[in-house]
Amino acid sequence: MSDVAIGVDVGGTKALALMVARDGRVVGELKSQTPHDEGFGAGEATTKVIVEQVHELCERQGLSPAQVPIGLGLPGMMRRDGHLAFAPNLQTASGADLGAQLGTALGNSSVFCENDANCATLAEHEWGAGRGIRDFVMVTLGTGIGGGVVADGQLVRGRSGFAGEIGHMVVEAKGAPCSCGGRGCWERYASGGGLHRLTREAALEGRLASVVERCDGDPKKVRAEDVTAAAADGLEEAVTLLREVGWWLALGLANLVAILDCGHFVIGGGLSSASDLVLPAAREYLAELVEGYDARPAITVTTSMFGERSGAMGATLVAFEGA
Ligand SMILES: [Zn+2]
Repeated sequence: MSDVAIGVDVGGTKALALMVARDGRVVGELKSQTPHDEGFGAGEATTKVIVEQVHELCERQGLSPAQVPIGLGLPGMMRRDGHLAFAPNLQTASGADLGAQLGTALGNSSVFCENDANCATLAEHEWGAGRGIRDFVMVTLGTGIGGGVVADGQLVRGRSGFAGEIGHMVVEAKGAPCSCGGRGCWERYASGGGLHRLTREAALEGRLASVVERCDGDPKKVRAEDVTAAAADGLEEAVTLLREVGWWLALGLANLVAILDCGHFVIGGGLSSASDLVLPAAREYLAELVEGYDARPAITVTTSMFGERSGAMGATLVAFEGA
């Protein structure tokens, strides 16, 4: 039984690989760009990058890449048989069995795959902000929104393994188009990508005049980070926009409360940098949007303990469990 495992969180832009001990201690870390090269078979370019990461992490510890259990957290709908069935944010790997490809490339029979947000949920449940909590939902705000549902102490996987695709709950019929092919999905409003989109829209509509001024007067140059920075400086129009994102976040959370009666949300992912303003707004609006809010025990919304590492941390748990 190995004392360490490697977890790789394969995102749409970066692949974060961690070597983690059984007690959750991180002993190695490596970040690479996720390739989007065409001209390879599905997932081949991605596999190549992960192979390099595994070799490097193992070499540092004097371990054989064939011996260490590996978990992959993948951004899309993971079938229980390990195939990445649908991955709008990593289209070059869509349909691939990355676990099998990696296992063959490394001569390693202990490679296991899970949806990235499910991985993050497992990590927070085992070691982090969801520890000891039997009913909570992890919401990762990145380019899109990922989710993991823990009910009665167990991760809910659903019939095919696709449960927790909460980013594609429709919150605005006929709303903004989404990479999934639908419209008005929650992730088009409350994620990092959603903030970016709302920023662009507000800048072009003249609702961010002072922020635009800071960006050479060109509304097309305004990025989500500019709004976050301006809001931190107390610029009213930027604060208003982040509160709007908080409202959209609360709307989705209220829908989840209606279905699951969960009492706790763990918020992770790259938008956490904006969380100082978005989360307090979301908590406030949640009280207005949840049915019978006052009749329920308190509903808490906290940030994840491991931030952008959650997915890779949880992928190691999948590896430990599988091996
Ligand atoms: Zn969608």
